[in-house]
Amino acid sequence: MKPKIKIALIASEASPFAKVGGLADVVSALPKELLVLGADARVIVPRYQSVRLRELKTTKAAELTVPFLGKTEKITVYQTCVPGSKVIAYLIDHPTLLSGGGIYSNPNAKNDPDFPNRRFIFFCKATLRVLEHLRFAPDILHLHDWPTAVLAAVIKFCPPKFLTAAKTLLTIHNLNNSNYASTAFLAELGLHPDTLPAVAKSKTNAKYYDLMALGLASANFINTVSPTYAREILKPPLGCGMDSLLRSRKKNLVGILNGIDTDYFNPQTDRYLSAKFGADTLDRKRQNKITLQKELRIQQNPAALLCGVVTRLSKQKGLELIVTSMENGLLDFAQVVVLGEGEERYQTMLRKQAQKHPRQLAFVQGYDAHLARRIYAGADLFLMPSRFEPCGLTQLIAMRYGALPLVHNTGGLHDTVMDWKKTGGCGFVFDKFESAALDQKLQEAAKLFGFPKLWRKLQLRAAKKNFSWHRSAKEYLNLYIKILKI
Ligand code: ADP
Repeated sequence: MKPKIKIALIASEASPFAKVGGLADVVSALPKELLVLGADARVIVPRYQSVRLRELKTTKAAELTVPFLGKTEKITVYQTCVPGSKVIAYLIDHPTLLSGGGIYSNPNAKNDPDFPNRRFIFFCKATLRVLEHLRFAPDILHLHDWPTAVLAAVIKFCPPKFLTAAKTLLTIHNLNNSNYASTAFLAELGLHPDTLPAVAKSKTNAKYYDLMALGLASANFINTVSPTYAREILKPPLGCGMDSLLRSRKKNLVGILNGIDTDYFNPQTDRYLSAKFGADTLDRKRQNKITLQKELRIQQNPAALLCGVVTRLSKQKGLELIVTSMENGLLDFAQVVVLGEGEERYQTMLRKQAQKHPRQLAFVQGYDAHLARRIYAGADLFLMPSRFEPCGLTQLIAMRYGALPLVHNTGGLHDTVMDWKKTGGCGFVFDKFESAALDQKLQEAAKLFGFPKLWRKLQLRAAKKNFSWHRSAKEYLNLYIKILKI
């Protein structure tokens, strides 16, 4: 029997243990499918304060020490499975370095600019120790964004003995986020400035290196989470200053579209909905809509066009366009519900609008996975006017729940949503990132909503689309095999 290919997915987030955005969904859904395809895929993430071990079936896999910045740090490794699967997950615990505060920020470390990079450099070092101790020598270290990208440089320039044959794949979930680490921190991983690629050096402080750039320059292969984003980052502005580095790696860069976990996001079994439904029972969305209107205390009107938004409140997501549309009269002909967590300025804008239009707009500040699903189920239209979008999962979830996506034509939104006017299309797509373009599409959607049979036809198309991970997981597996031959 052929030995199984061994993959370690090493990341800062994995759903449901720790999640800020789509990266977390990918890190837990992909290995589930890889297991089905015969790979031995395991997940390694920090154990943050928010991870309630008692609610997970965990065993203590190891207690180890890791030398770090002149001290001996003790870590505990908890082993569990990604819920609903047999994917082994290792959660690495260290009371202060890994578990204190949030994932990327720590209220107790507000004046400490090195907080996040120290955390993830330590996590990378601890991960190598854990893999060695558990005698799990992966064929591929699958790394995700800047927090673990640096491991690609470690494997290239100073691999530990047990990993000399290992290869690396770095997935870019969002190039817009990166972080610098000092040479002192990098030395903890065995990386010394004279061996490091100069392209990753900070332009303002020679003692600092960009962690994402280090990974991009060193990984055996790089992928983005959609084919269009893979092309967009080769040029400014989406290249985020790394476009020339990425162009130099073009031969080893591909885009693989994300899927969604169709067991988790399944309106037929979703126990958080007031009425479960499927593609053949879309009528039942009406019940979910009324319940949502009631829950969020907006006017209970099944005939209203209900627009949903579930998002991080960040510049990327184009929230100012939505707010401008509200100022331009969107709430005169539609209701909007927004669930979002993030930047204060967007919270203020949305709160102000909600005070003005309490019966038409509900803004829920925060992160709520269950309410998110009730919004997908209750909404007619799902708004996602992102400035840029590496892939985007929410538009995929919305379609599965029968809400038609209205999107800006960028990145993964371009690859997954086709305008209703095109054959097979079921969404609303605008090209220019400006409020007039969004307004026009909103008007168009509202008009179409007045034709229930046509609307239902588009909903049916949306709900029947196949965004399962199976296809993407096969692409990843083929890529891993290709990388092993490099
Ligand atoms: P990004 O990774 O850029 O945040 P994605 O669309 O790729 O955006 O993934 C977002 C994921 O996070 C989806 O699963 C979505 O349901 C979830 N999500 C985002 N914001 C919230 C929120 N405020 N409450 C609950 N879930 C959220």
